[in-house]
Amino acid sequence: MKSAAMKKEKLPGKPLGPIPEGYEAIDGELAIGGQKASLLAQQAGETPLFVYSRQVLHDTMDRLRAAMPDRLHINYAIKANPHADVLHFMADLVDGYDIASAGELAILKEVGIDPARVSFAGPGKRDAELEAAIAAGVTLNLESEGEARRALDIAARLAVTPRLAIRVNPDFDMKGSGMKMGGGAKPFGVDAERVPALATEIIAAGAEWRGLHIYTGSQALSAEAIIETQGNVLALADTIAREIGQPLPKLNMGGGFGIPYFPGDEPLDIEAIGAALEERFADLPDTLADAHLCIELGRYLVGLAGVYLCRVVDKKVSHGETYLVTDGGLHHQLAASGNFGTVIRRNYPAAIANRFEAPPEEVASIVGCLCTPLDRLTDKGFLPRAEVGDLVAIFCAGAYGATASPAQFLGQGPAREVLV
Ligand SMILES: *Cc1c(COP(=O)(O)O)cnc(C)c1O
Repeated sequence: MKSAAMKKEKLPGKPLGPIPEGYEAIDGELAIGGQKASLLAQQAGETPLFVYSRQVLHDTMDRLRAAMPDRLHINYAIKANPHADVLHFMADLVDGYDIASAGELAILKEVGIDPARVSFAGPGKRDAELEAAIAAGVTLNLESEGEARRALDIAARLAVTPRLAIRVNPDFDMKGSGMKMGGGAKPFGVDAERVPALATEIIAAGAEWRGLHIYTGSQALSAEAIIETQGNVLALADTIAREIGQPLPKLNMGGGFGIPYFPGDEPLDIEAIGAALEERFADLPDTLADAHLCIELGRYLVGLAGVYLCRVVDKKVSHGETYLVTDGGLHHQLAASGNFGTVIRRNYPAAIANRFEAPPEEVASIVGCLCTPLDRLTDKGFLPRAEVGDLVAIFCAGAYGATASPAQFLGQGPAREVLV
């Protein structure tokens, strides 16, 4: 027997992801950082563009700091969004930076970030990248014994003391994470049981020992899963430190904090994670009592702060289905099209930006301008009636948008990016 309350009203079309907090309307239009979308597009001179909001970046960091123990350092994994203005703005808000290439190191240097605040993880670091990082004083999170030996050789040749940490491939992964990065055979890190021997070798070679990096996954929305994983990370770090026979100077506990992209996704309960960490930090083993403890976050810090704006250039109907054809597409927003690490395609939050407060009236698919059926930003969304010239907003575009999309595909080129 079904009660009335259980019968959820079924909207036409397919559901959209939840529009993040902090986006209001001015004169019925979507406003970002207090500026109307149409004005932002006009100022940029051209669509498509990514708009990143200082206010949302700031509010996100504020809430995170308030939730986490004071002792916990918060690093920004810049691969999520390495735009120079964003890095500049984040410089006062975060404690450190995580990079995954010498290219990212060059970007940070350009922005004027002190390389001593930077650590470098990632498989396949070339000799030239190791050299650039060691010479700059960046901490290397070593991914293998071979990489460790190459780093030591390069440091000896440069006559500098390298800052070396080991990335551990743990024997567990994070439940419910969108992308698993630990547990079983992996190209990342050194298998946990081989870490003590390598650490001993590095310390004996005279390197500055910077402890462990344990990263287990990405885009987790379950606080429970993250709390459990952090417990496992602390326990594994303790075990390894005991085998090495000295306390750890530093532990990078990983990250994996997710954001709600899709219908039904709930925001991560960071207050619960912070409270659990606080409890654990009050009772750390000797091996970790004095360690520099940090987490590294990418999308959580910047994902919700970005909106992708593109313009409707054509509206057409095919076999009864309405298409809004835009000047944007998967070449800027691969993830929203469902082609970047997703198994089942679901809709990101989207809106007709210049009709932000208009009621939904029509089911339409928002597609890009690329000549491929993959180029679909919104599948059968229930939207206000849109016309040629209207602006489409795709939310959750602050992370893995501009940088993780094939901008050169079909000769389209990159989108503009502005921080407001
Ligand atoms: C990609 C990556 C991150 C950032 O992941 P998010 O899901 O954006 O938080 C952090 N650390 C490492 C080692 C990574 O590879």
